[in-house]
Amino acid sequence: MRVFLFLLLPFLVFASHLKIISIKGTNSEVQVQFNNSIKEKDFSKYSINSGIYYDIKAELAVSKETFKLGKNSIKIAPNTKTITRIVIETKESENLYFNINNKRLTLSFKNNSATKIDSNKTNANNLESSNLNIANLFNSLDLKSINPSNKQDSTKIKDSTQQTDSTLKSAAQNNTQTNNNKNKIIVLDPGHGGKDCGASVGKICEKTITLNISKKTAEILKSRGYAVYTTRNSDKYISLTDRTKMANDKNADVFISIHANALDKKSKNYKSANGIETYFLSTARSERAKKVAELENKDDIEVMNYFSKLSFLNSINSQRLLASNKLAIDIQGGMLMNARNLHKGVIDGGVREGPFWVLAGALMPSILIEVGYMTNALELTRMQTKEYQNAIASGIADGIDGYFLKNF
Ligand SMILES: [Zn+2]
Repeated sequence: MRVFLFLLLPFLVFASHLKIISIKGTNSEVQVQFNNSIKEKDFSKYSINSGIYYDIKAELAVSKETFKLGKNSIKIAPNTKTITRIVIETKESENLYFNINNKRLTLSFKNNSATKIDSNKTNANNLESSNLNIANLFNSLDLKSINPSNKQDSTKIKDSTQQTDSTLKSAAQNNTQTNNNKNKIIVLDPGHGGKDCGASVGKICEKTITLNISKKTAEILKSRGYAVYTTRNSDKYISLTDRTKMANDKNADVFISIHANALDKKSKNYKSANGIETYFLSTARSERAKKVAELENKDDIEVMNYFSKLSFLNSINSQRLLASNKLAIDIQGGMLMNARNLHKGVIDGGVREGPFWVLAGALMPSILIEVGYMTNALELTRMQTKEYQNAIASGIADGIDGYFLKNF
């Protein structure tokens, strides 16, 4: 037995040699890719005055990097040849999102307030000075000699001084590898399911319409080369938090929740209200948005309490909000165009803001669409046809194409 152990030892050592093989960052998150799978226990966590840092026994096989996420900064650099240190300067460490998925560590902030456009310069200066402050967190070993900071590295920080109206654009420039649309990850979320029928008229449940449209949309997006995940592929119940958790776990680029509208029987325009609407999450509370939100949210009181505790309405990332708004406009346009090819008079219900809890937990641009009113007889009939479902699906896909084309 002992002989075998000695024979195995070199292989075990070899296998355990952990390396960081790539670091990618945007203004909203940082992704660290390892050559082997990692676990949270591999990281030693330390609190410091200016935030926290983690040490991991892994060689940094790429250049050190510093990223700025709102008011926070994340620096990844070697502490010794075998230990990489991740220093996170933040005043809101409780909002740090530290997520491990097999070989990838994702760091972001739940409360990542975007850099104000007119204060970019000040923030960048702050970052520079804070870099000096944290310099002594790294071993006196000359880091530059291990990983000479290349030009790209230093421009990455300077980039933040040049961000104007399109922070997402410069984030994408920093990250040329993911520029290709076809690397985009889409999570589709057919509303309701299982015990939760959603809106119902007669025996027809919203959950069936949303599932059909989602399946078709997934098919089209996959044929266009996107990576697509759906929160459900069958008639089963999924909590609101699990829906966005999936999107976060998959590192989705966009999250799209699919619904069909309905009005309360007491409403004046119960039978006449119609049209396609797209919502994105915000604190705005127009009467119409509030009514739709109440209907879509009623399912999950527990989730609402959970997010209320997080006071999520204050924590909406303004960058994500802007991106969600853009995504909503593109998808609304795509749906209308395709639906109108089929039925000329389809009504544009508009792009609206609303407090939708299903979108609250998502860390990426996310929208909720209402593909028509079930309480409107004509739209209910249409929504059950394959033709209309296909048109909406094509519209969603066209909208996604347009969004990525323009914004990345
Ligand atoms: Zn719904």
